Amino acid sequence: MLIVQKFGGTSVGDLERIQNVANRVSESKKAGNDIVVVVSAMSGETNKLVSYAEHFSKNPSRAEMDMLLSSGERVTASLLSIALQEMGHDAVAMTGRKAGIVTDKHHTKARIEEINPHNMQNALKKGKVVVVAGFQGVNDAGDVTTLGRGGSDLSAVAIAGALKADLCEIYTDVSGIFTTDPRIEPKAKKLERISYDEMLELASLGAKVLQNRSVELAKKLHVNLVTRTSFSNEEGTLITTEGNIMEKPLVSGIALDRNQARISLVGVKDRPGIASEIFNALADAEVNVDMIIQNKAIDETTNIDFTVPVSDLHDAKSVVESFLKSGDINSDSYNEDICKVSVVGVGMKSHAGVAAKAFSTMATNNININMISTSEIKVSMVIDEKYAELAVRSLHEAYELDK
Ligand code: ASP
Ligand code: MG
Repeated sequence: MLIVQKFGGTSVGDLERIQNVANRVSESKKAGNDIVVVVSAMSGETNKLVSYAEHFSKNPSRAEMDMLLSSGERVTASLLSIALQEMGHDAVAMTGRKAGIVTDKHHTKARIEEINPHNMQNALKKGKVVVVAGFQGVNDAGDVTTLGRGGSDLSAVAIAGALKADLCEIYTDVSGIFTTDPRIEPKAKKLERISYDEMLELASLGAKVLQNRSVELAKKLHVNLVTRTSFSNEEGTLITTEGNIMEKPLVSGIALDRNQARISLVGVKDRPGIASEIFNALADAEVNVDMIIQNKAIDETTNIDFTVPVSDLHDAKSVVESFLKSGDINSDSYNEDICKVSVVGVGMKSHAGVAAKAFSTMATNNININMISTSEIKVSMVIDEKYAELAVRSLHEAYELDK
């Protein structure tokens, strides 16, 4: 098998851990696999480099930041390669450039445009273990670029796609994806398999494990992703196409998003174009709108409620402000003490009653549902934040996810 193994910052957090990674890579290699390793910087290293730059400037040039930040990953790649060589393996460390990772020119948040994998392929052909510095590439002017914070997951997935690897393993300090947050429900079970789409919907459960961008890329490139821990031999969670999941569970997991705020617009002029004006203005202000509810108009005005991430609330308020001034809206109110619970599962596509069960679970627990939205594989409810944990636990039980 050709396996891409990516080790995050905590997995390479100190020299002993780098040795531990070398041992693990060595075992996979000895088992007969071809291995490409992608590494992050040692944990805390990228932040430290950022703070060094901030010592000199509030607004350091992005190109220089990329020169600086890309160095963290080069340190771990070369150290790991040295450790592997010392164990008798033929290993070679590569920068993003040497690995053929070509990006656009957006320093500090570049997008991968293509991968020219021949240097990696030639090394693999010679039986070498290839160790790539994650998080970085090169633009067409030859300058080093970085892919945005947490970007080495993206490097790993893109490399796995370009090499048509059988597997891309993402090693972190978390053992996989769980049916819900184990800190809320200790009975949460680790999932063996989950589809890309479910993983994207369950983002809050995977947030510590995987960037959403990486899951999207894996889906696009058909990369089989496994998330697992580097601290034990425990099996992780496979994230794959729906077709690879034989027994489709009705519900795979319960996600909780506490970072939502609700905005209520009262007395909105009921005329064609008003929703378009409001939501385009919000989009222009880069406010990420999630759920939207508009009520039936009475007396030529209507009410519109929507949710945004708490971090976008400030910008959203200024947009709403301008519509209050123009008289298109009578009044507004805001509520940050809400959260969104979502029930996610591909099996819902072919089964009725999943949403009804979620609502009756809220009813039995006397939890009022403020807003509802559904998709093919998800039922989301906005409720008061004080009920967040109760809702998660009772839904987890109602769908028998602890079994
Ligand atoms: N070292 C980079 C960061 O901390 C990239 C990564 O770890 O994925 O953002
Ligand atoms: Mg990371």
